[in-house]
Amino acid sequence: MPDDPIEKHKKSVPKATGRGRLKAARKKLKRNLNPAPPRRKGWIDQDPDAVDESLHGGVERLMPRDEGDRRRAVEQAAFETDHDSAEPDHAPQETPEAGMVIATGAGSCRVEIMGRTVDCSLRGSLTASESEYSNAVAVGDRVLLSEEGDGTGVVEEVLPRRTALSRPESFNSLRQRVVVANADQILIVSSWRGPNMWLEMIDRYVIAAIRGGLDALVCVNKIDLVEDDAELQRTLQPYHDLGHQVLLTSAVLGTGIDDIRDTLAGKTTVLAGLSGTGKSSLLNAVQPGLNLRTQTISIDRGRTEGRHTTVGVAMYPLEVGGAIIDTPGVKDIAVRGVFKNELSDLFLDIADLVPECRFYDCSHRDEPDCGVLKGLESGVLAKSRYNSYQAIRAALPT
Ligand code: GDP
Repeated sequence: MPDDPIEKHKKSVPKATGRGRLKAARKKLKRNLNPAPPRRKGWIDQDPDAVDESLHGGVERLMPRDEGDRRRAVEQAAFETDHDSAEPDHAPQETPEAGMVIATGAGSCRVEIMGRTVDCSLRGSLTASESEYSNAVAVGDRVLLSEEGDGTGVVEEVLPRRTALSRPESFNSLRQRVVVANADQILIVSSWRGPNMWLEMIDRYVIAAIRGGLDALVCVNKIDLVEDDAELQRTLQPYHDLGHQVLLTSAVLGTGIDDIRDTLAGKTTVLAGLSGTGKSSLLNAVQPGLNLRTQTISIDRGRTEGRHTTVGVAMYPLEVGGAIIDTPGVKDIAVRGVFKNELSDLFLDIADLVPECRFYDCSHRDEPDCGVLKGLESGVLAKSRYNSYQAIRAALPT
């Protein structure tokens, strides 16, 4: 199709050069993701041969003395059990496989494990953990359980996180609350028109992704409403240059749906974007029947403890593998806890220019010999990115 806007766009866009830079920035920020807890008396380094490395991502872990022996015994017992003849009993059982937290409530969570869901309470020691985070488990966490035999369980251990989208606690800004753990990427959905593309919103989500250690994908939906292809290309060029994958879609025409499906397959993706941009329509096109509308999940921890209701973060498994995580407010948490002088580190194109500034506390507005303003003048830095930077910076604390 000679007039296909996607083909035109692909041809006109120079190959992305920023992927290496994005990776380096994520690596730097990820170092703080799972800080090693202080070693305690009575805890020993885990024998790396005794665990399935794929469960733990090869990260150094600590476990109580004798814990390795106990787990080996549990695994051994599982192999020795004759499953056909075993009578079901209600004694607590350790499940050595890791499950995934798909919803959280107050002191409780719902875990998906081997195709089942188990409503769990949390082992007391977890809530008093020495992590920098105020919540012990978040949606996306991989956890080890002991099951009670009545369909409920107890989370015994949270495995180290690969990524974490988090926000500072309102009562103590030095403590972070994890909103989503272990997601791979954020799909930022923006519509070209109705509502108009809002670049500052995209830039905020990009910041959330960088801070959390995730990839950011930019999806422009409603491209059936594009009047000027050149304008679309100019608008998206900064994201190509930064190394983000850019997807062009139209849910009504069915354009780009296969690209989205390929991008989501096997990955855990946080969905982001203003309401009305077409997120539900796109996901329904990817997987008919996938209903994104916010659900309320009740977590039942047994008759004595009552029901705990959770709202907000919801996880939807995909037929192509992987899952979508729908959470309100990623944009709002993106810059929480960031100070004015730290923002340029999160705008990688601006960070490249800052070393050229004469003043170390340059605001990049009107100072002489400002590398960022020079970059803007020469066209190295896109005006839209500069505008987002200044708009976001204006509201940050010094
Ligand atoms: P959400 O709030 O982000 O989930 O957006 P919806 O999927 O509910 O879509 C909002 C409106 O945009 C609906 O009226 C859709 O029919 C319309 N819409 C969604 N995708 C497209 C598209 O690709 N092109 C056009 N023209 N309209 C779309």
